Amino acid sequence: MKEILFLKPVFKQMIWGGNRMAAEYGYDIPGENTGECWAISAHKNGDGVIAGGTYDGWNLSRLYAEHRELFGNSTEEVFPLLVKIIDAKADLSIQVHPDDTYAKENENGSLGKTECWYILDCDADATIVIGHNAKNKEDLRQMIAQDRWEELISVRPIHKGDFFQIDPGTVHAIKAGTLILETQQSSDVTYRLYDYGRLQNGKPRELHIEKSIDVIGCPHKEQQESSAVCQVGKAKVQTMVTCPFYTVEKITLTGGNQRFQTEGDYQLFSVIDGEGTLDDVAIKKGDHFILPSGYDNYCLEGTLELMTSYTREKEEVK
Ligand code: ZN
Repeated sequence: MKEILFLKPVFKQMIWGGNRMAAEYGYDIPGENTGECWAISAHKNGDGVIAGGTYDGWNLSRLYAEHRELFGNSTEEVFPLLVKIIDAKADLSIQVHPDDTYAKENENGSLGKTECWYILDCDADATIVIGHNAKNKEDLRQMIAQDRWEELISVRPIHKGDFFQIDPGTVHAIKAGTLILETQQSSDVTYRLYDYGRLQNGKPRELHIEKSIDVIGCPHKEQQESSAVCQVGKAKVQTMVTCPFYTVEKITLTGGNQRFQTEGDYQLFSVIDGEGTLDDVAIKKGDHFILPSGYDNYCLEGTLELMTSYTREKEEVK
């Protein structure tokens, strides 16, 4: 099928969320504490809806279940990816995610969560938490028990355009003043290690200390970021990460038009800046869509920045 599948996002209010997505992307957000936009999602906790075209009004999960041919007849049981925009007005909890094996056993067969972040924008002095300083599990357990958070967590400065891959078992936290595009496995399993003693509706949010200690890798292993840039005619294509769950790329076109081959069995796109067209269909900042199987190539025109992701199942099957 050669039809662009545009998605209508699902929004989530969070105690740490803000209102930036209204002004930045023109979204009709549900309130002042809108923390997450589930932009491309078939997860049961926020199932996106197709906007326009043959499948107008269908949930993405239903489309994936009933028209698997649009997704290269993928053998993945559930739509494997989830793309979010996160507006952190305040700090997110310090957290960690399990891998597939741990999640399957302990979270009713859920997928694990490998995620990655592209910093869309941030305050001049913004920071992020990635990793910890405990030498081993005993050390980790002790530092948690003694509330030695400053000493435990590893904080680093961030800038617009930075990219981070967060593997399962990595202690992490998005901090205040950060707008992020997150590409992740379709999972909603988070183990909260520390929540700054905050209250939600008068009560602290649940912590998951034992599960966190179970899954945190000790000592922390630093990710080697290896991004590669290539020129495709007039456009720049930057590979941000390739891992067993996804490949994430950034496409930058500064005027004119350029034709591209699609990647993977189907390909996810988020317009993060600018406006233009894809095969003469108007696209603009804040749009999210999928090019289904059968969409072999496409032409972009305009001044556009897009984040795109795909899975590599096609290659594995061959
Ligand atoms: Zn996370």
